[in-house]
Amino acid sequence: MLSAEVAHIAAASVISDSANGSLIMSGEKAAGTVAADDGVRQAAGVGEGADPGSLSPACGLPQWAYRAEGTSLAGWLSNDTSGDEQMSDKTSYFDAVVIGAGFSGMHMLKSLRDKLGLKVRVYEAGATVGGTWYWNRYPGARCDSESYIYCFTWDKQLLQEWEWSERYPEQPEILRYLEYVAQRHDLKRDMQFNTRVTSAAFDESANLWRVYTDKGEDVTARYLITAVGTLSTTNLPQFKGLETFKGKWYHTSRFPHSGVDFTAKRVAVVGTGATAVQAIPEISQQAKHLTVFQRTANFCVPARNGKVDPEKVKARKADYDGIVERLYSSFAGFEHVPIEKSAAGGDARGAGTSVRSAVGQWWLRFPAGRL
Ligand SMILES: Cc1cc2nc3c(=O)[nH]c(=O)nc-3n(C[C@H](O)[C@H](O)[C@H](O)COP(=O)(O)OP(=O)(O)OC[C@H]3O[C@@H](n4cnc5c(N)ncnc54)[C@H](O)[C@@H]3O)c2cc1C
Repeated sequence: MLSAEVAHIAAASVISDSANGSLIMSGEKAAGTVAADDGVRQAAGVGEGADPGSLSPACGLPQWAYRAEGTSLAGWLSNDTSGDEQMSDKTSYFDAVVIGAGFSGMHMLKSLRDKLGLKVRVYEAGATVGGTWYWNRYPGARCDSESYIYCFTWDKQLLQEWEWSERYPEQPEILRYLEYVAQRHDLKRDMQFNTRVTSAAFDESANLWRVYTDKGEDVTARYLITAVGTLSTTNLPQFKGLETFKGKWYHTSRFPHSGVDFTAKRVAVVGTGATAVQAIPEISQQAKHLTVFQRTANFCVPARNGKVDPEKVKARKADYDGIVERLYSSFAGFEHVPIEKSAAGGDARGAGTSVRSAVGQWWLRFPAGRL
């Protein structure tokens, strides 16, 4: 599975009452929480069932050679280019078809096309690049990995040029970054947006994949890459009475692009996973009254977000090769060092080992922030 997933993160959902109140359903995005394992962890479409634990981090990616496409960062930042200049090639044979234009799909296109010289088509259900960061626009949405590693490490020049505003940047900033990468590397010319792959089958006789889309395309490809993410399918809980609920309701992973004004509303959030942990403080500042429904308590530590000390930024930029090397040799693509102490006290290398396995393994690596 060629995905940039690293944290165990799931969708959350939101329901809102238009007259006086809102109901917000949230599944869980378990970053920073040690959560029960029955949250919403689904891969989409063809990639369904992917194991998040087996995936590699977005930033711990090979350092492919890249072509600078000549778009300056300053020039780009002043323009909104989302959704434009996508491909127009109608060819029906491709060396590779990539499904999804999030971190993973963008990286795959860049690698397959510009490193291997393959003819590639990317199909994306959303209207532009970004994947997770295109869909998840709920209040407070931000990443849980530190910005200096939550990025493409193969674009060394951009590592030097891009200035993240915070330790854990918000969704619009990450989306802006991905849009910029798409433009800088001319990715959209091989991407088709608003197009969902509906099925794919390997044709043994032709030794090719046949890929079908909801736009009626029927294309063939030698390679099929499902970069569909592990969290891109929305899980809508089947709440009884939802169909007759008079208010408005939302799911965090499909939040309206125009945002939602909760001022003077009664709002309810369902769930207390990592998404809800991000959304609740933001919504509570607007809402007249906020009720949170929690089935399972999660453990959550302060993110300690904020501006990054410019000296630290400078030092990191000077040491990106070292950082990338450390990410590669680390447990899960982070620079964190394990604390060899069991959460239950004592030495985690001995009796505590079983506690460390699964969730514990992760937790010990993330002394601050969310998993
Ligand atoms: C709020 C939030 C915060 C997160 N924070 C972090 C973090 O701090 N660190 C971290 O490592 N990870 C984090 N994640 C996980 C995040 O999903 C990954 O880091 C990464 O963005 C996944 O990229 P991807 O390209 O693999 O998948 P996605 O970004 O999910 O992209 C998959 C794309 O495939 C498209 N797609 C799916 N099926 C089809 C189909 N059949 N046809 C066409 N298109 C299809 C989807 O529309 C989607 O755009 C976070 C996730 C969320 C939701």
